[in-house]
Amino acid sequence: MENTNKKITIAIDGHSSTGKSTIAKSLAKYLNYIYVDTGAMYRAVTWFALKQGLIDDSGIKRVQLISRLDEISISFTNISGENHTIVNDLDVEREIRGLEVANNVSKVASIPEVRRKLVAEQQFLGSAKGVVMDGRDIGTVVFPKAELKVFMTASADVRAQRRYNELRGKGEEVDFDDVLKNIEERDFLDENRKDSPLVKADDAILLDNSKLSRNQQFDHIISLVNNALS
Ligand code: C5P
Repeated sequence: MENTNKKITIAIDGHSSTGKSTIAKSLAKYLNYIYVDTGAMYRAVTWFALKQGLIDDSGIKRVQLISRLDEISISFTNISGENHTIVNDLDVEREIRGLEVANNVSKVASIPEVRRKLVAEQQFLGSAKGVVMDGRDIGTVVFPKAELKVFMTASADVRAQRRYNELRGKGEEVDFDDVLKNIEERDFLDENRKDSPLVKADDAILLDNSKLSRNQQFDHIISLVNNALS
């Protein structure tokens, strides 16, 4: 490492289920940086909305959800080396990873008031640099001046297979087709929303990991970090 005292901001954006958080977590550990999973924050708001009956078959009760955003306090804690998302003192890590939250999160994330609240919290969390943050708009909106921006993608089939294996591994009864459909829907909603759509920042480095192992991706990003630090 060129300069161990210098701390930078690393923005990892990209499509759903590209393994952004796995890579971001191991980078943060290796560099001794903070890791912030911004997707978990949007999932946490979605979990709250579902729990409070603010989402039903007719859609999201937007006005009510917006008026209750101040009631949602999100934090993270580490339990046996695993990141857990806490909403108002309740560990919701398992709940926010399920398909019910996944099926609603991109609609919740398209609400500008939700984004404004979470972006402000993310900017605060990363204000001292030395942070790896993963999401959809980190390099474009949250930290447009980040020293290193990576945009991860892979084919929808590869991503669905990875997510399917992960959910099955956790004992969730899911169908491959439902997982694929969810990924394609989220891509569409994330790329086409009006407020901060998913788009590669001009200065982000594109990483298509369809055919790359985790180690290959990690080594590649570490060489980018070393460049940014030198
Ligand atoms: O990263 P993850 O798949 O957990 O994110 C869940 C959803 O949250 C995304 O599909 C997207 O709709 C939303 N999101 C976002 N902006 C971020 C992070 C996530 O809109 N920075």
